[in-house]
Amino acid sequence: MDNPTETTFTDEAVENALHRGEFRFHYQPKVSFLTGKIVGGEALLRWIRPDGTQVFPDQFLPRAEETGFITDITAVMVQDLIEDIETLRAVKPDVQVAFNISAKDLKTPYLVKILRSAIGNRRIDPGNIQIEVTETAVVDADNVVLQRLFDLVALGVEIVMDDFGTGYSSLDVLSRLPFSALKLDQGVVRRMPEDVRNTHIVLSSLYMARELSIKTIAEGVETEGTYSFLMASGCSEVQGYWIGKAMPLDDFISFFEEKAQWPFSAFGHLYNAWDNHISYRRKVLDYVHTLSFTSPKEWNELPKVDLFHSPARCRLGQWYMGERGEEGSQEHYARLDSHHRLMHEAGETLIETARSGKGPAAVAEATGIFLKHSDIVDAEVSRIVERWMARCECSRKGP
Ligand code: C2E
Ligand code: CA
Ligand code: CA
Repeated sequence: MDNPTETTFTDEAVENALHRGEFRFHYQPKVSFLTGKIVGGEALLRWIRPDGTQVFPDQFLPRAEETGFITDITAVMVQDLIEDIETLRAVKPDVQVAFNISAKDLKTPYLVKILRSAIGNRRIDPGNIQIEVTETAVVDADNVVLQRLFDLVALGVEIVMDDFGTGYSSLDVLSRLPFSALKLDQGVVRRMPEDVRNTHIVLSSLYMARELSIKTIAEGVETEGTYSFLMASGCSEVQGYWIGKAMPLDDFISFFEEKAQWPFSAFGHLYNAWDNHISYRRKVLDYVHTLSFTSPKEWNELPKVDLFHSPARCRLGQWYMGERGEEGSQEHYARLDSHHRLMHEAGETLIETARSGKGPAAVAEATGIFLKHSDIVDAEVSRIVERWMARCECSRKGP
């Protein structure tokens, strides 16, 4: 990749470049941890100068953001993006291309208009496009910006929160706005081998996304170790130099044609399911504890807790009823299923008992039944994990 020689450009030079068609998207591949295959990529802006040198966005976008010229760039480039997606659909109809926008782009109506028209004319499917926004772009979102985000969601387009883990109010923003995925900040991801605090941030972000049922994408993955760690931790998708840098459209298409394959495992998926299940157990017990310390007239004021008593709403239930990716005998799964159902039923009964005022002995008995089934579920899942580890050990290559 060429390095740009200049570091600053006049506004006029940037405007001319846009109008002369010197801006292009390069695409950085994004891989699914569940399949090890490319699901799509991120469109990253490149200024290709007539002499062939490349200028990276950090050399002209911050200034374009300041002057407001960024909205012109977006309006022109989103048309290119749609054309590129049409080309990509020929090799991968369900390709997912992420596109970055700035706060100013949400203040104008054209982005929604252009996408609505491209989707309405069936040039692209809404699933082909994802919009990445940073927290700073939406932290002070007014009604207009909010409406634009909801319009995009109504079109079927996914909104991704970029650079997650760097801001201060990420949690609040995440819960208020219609995000369907969060993208872990690349700095935080890259610093995991140096400083445990970064690992904490990554793991707690994955945990939170799990609770909110949203996808996670890791960015800045440069080593095999970081890739494997994120895969085992149940992250959904991954992007970074270890897989590939941003490249011109033709090279990106070759990646799909070559059917490139990276390591994959559904183990993180099982772990997510187990975590979600354990979180249910904890929520039930904490809730019963809370009720016992609160007078019944205050119960309406308690914080809302998502107590999903249906086993099909528990991720563990969804995992063994669906794509579990582990053979195991039918007998094992039947036992797991039966106790998992009984446990969720017992959870509901336990909460009812605690609310009924039947007294501590009745609550203790209902807790005992709940925990008995929970222990059997744990033992069954532990056995699945054991069998899984044994298989990983045999399939591992190298020392
Ligand atoms: P971003 O959205 O966080 O994009 C990721 C940046 O990290 C890209 O830099 C990418 O090349 C780089 N990167 C990806 N994986 C790795 C890795 O493993 N190691 C390292 N060291 N870097 C990695 P790039 O292309 O220079 O883009 C920089 C920023 O410019 C982007 O950050 C985004 O905020 C902005 N940008 C790029 N294209 C557009 C665009 O079309 N519109 C807008 N509004 N912003 C854009
Ligand atoms: Ca991005
Ligand atoms: Ca990012």
